[in-house]
Amino acid sequence: MNDHRDKSFWLDTHPPYEENQPLEGLQRVDVAVLGAGFTGLSTAYHLRRAEPSLRVAVLEAEIVGFGASGRNGGFSMTLFGMQPALTKAMFGAARTREAQRYMERAVDLVDAMVREHDMQSDYWHPGYLHVATTDAHMRRIEKAARLLEELGIAGHELLDRQAVRERVDSPLFVGGSFEARCGILNPARHVRELKRVAEAAGAEVYERSPVESIERGTRFCLRTPGGTVEAERVVIATNAWSHLLAGLRSREAPVFTHMVVTEPLNEKQWEAIGWAGREGLEDARNIIHYLRPTADGRIAIGGYRLSVSFGRDMDHDLNPNAFAGLERNLVSMFPPLAGVRFTHRWGGPVSVTADLVPAIGQLGDARCVYSVGCIGHGVSLTHLNGQTLADLVLERSSELTETWFVNRRVFPWPPEPLRALATHAILGYMKVEDRVLEGNKWG
Ligand SMILES: Cc1cc2nc3c(=O)[nH]c(=O)nc-3n(C[C@H](O)[C@H](O)[C@H](O)COP(=O)(O)OP(=O)(O)OC[C@H]3O[C@@H](n4cnc5c(N)ncnc54)[C@H](O)[C@@H]3O)c2cc1C
Repeated sequence: MNDHRDKSFWLDTHPPYEENQPLEGLQRVDVAVLGAGFTGLSTAYHLRRAEPSLRVAVLEAEIVGFGASGRNGGFSMTLFGMQPALTKAMFGAARTREAQRYMERAVDLVDAMVREHDMQSDYWHPGYLHVATTDAHMRRIEKAARLLEELGIAGHELLDRQAVRERVDSPLFVGGSFEARCGILNPARHVRELKRVAEAAGAEVYERSPVESIERGTRFCLRTPGGTVEAERVVIATNAWSHLLAGLRSREAPVFTHMVVTEPLNEKQWEAIGWAGREGLEDARNIIHYLRPTADGRIAIGGYRLSVSFGRDMDHDLNPNAFAGLERNLVSMFPPLAGVRFTHRWGGPVSVTADLVPAIGQLGDARCVYSVGCIGHGVSLTHLNGQTLADLVLERSSELTETWFVNRRVFPWPPEPLRALATHAILGYMKVEDRVLEGNKWG
């Protein structure tokens, strides 16, 4: 049976994993959750915590963390949507502030859960560095920091060239900003710890249990190859796979991002780079580079190129051009790494709504809820979304359920081939702007 270790460095290097049994026979539950990533497991945990009498079953098509939750960069960060300026232009100042507050709460929730449950997630709390490699990118970072300040959001400290290079010494970095609030974790370790925490709270998790059909009657009837679940309520936490489900077809589309990781660096290499604070670091391109040290002394870097799919196709984890570019660009950032070996290359899908911000809400009626559109910023967001989804399932009005991107009207993606044309057009624009703002820096 495929253990999916090839899906990421994190899944490959996590200690042997013991899967739960697939669903068998008929189970009657209060709430069925589709998908065992951060969203599904956090929802199950928050449901059981709020209502310990509920029977909650999580059904995962493959294994816990098979999706983006076991493959990501591990940045627990406050960025909402693409950029604060874009969110403000599309949704206004008040909603941008509200979204930013939600993200801050999400980052704090991850931190609190790790501490409360002693989660062995290789989590640390180094803050987040946003770096510029051109003057135009520095102006973009300054504009974002100014905008957040105007909105009353504190904690984004601007850094000049010297201050950035004292933290991480790349000849390409011309300045940046620093946000102390943010954390970083090993996603595979974390999602499997989240399974432990959800189970300890009383949720059941079934792996290798893809939901193949959902019938809606007085109760929901969910069928997997080995069993059936009858549920009063359903939570759809299938992220970038959600467009494969009838009711969510037009609400999100998958876009694939890719990562590589070096062999462990030696002391001399780390000394040449600095990076003693081990912060998560992103640049300010549209199609960003995101990079971070790992607990065992490597650098993992992702981004630079994205892959888009057509229709139901989900087979874009591997992109040789992205891998080659990331390996080349890491050495451009850090010349002392010339000749370093890369040991793992992987990718995974993120869920993108047509207006690039998340959507959480009811599907049909209050008995079925869903969450999509966390794009590449879902590590923290999904944890708090789990609490929001739990409130929606319990029909408890809360500050979370009143957030503007909950139960909002979702601008639909058009049907194929128009969806592919639209995603290619948006990506094409982003690429051209990157090229204009930074010239031929990355070849
Ligand atoms: C390479 C990469 C790097 C990223 N880096 C970052 C980062 O550094 N910081 C950040 O904030 N975000 C990052 N993200 C985004 C972040 O990982 C996601 O937003 C987040 O993990 C989404 O969690 P989720 O639980 O909603 O979805 P997922 O983890 O994708 O889980 C969905 C699950 O649903 C299951 N499923 C699908 N269909 C069915 C079905 N029919 N029946 C049962 N189960 C089903 C899938 O198998 C999957 O396990 C990155 C994403 C990728 C791919």
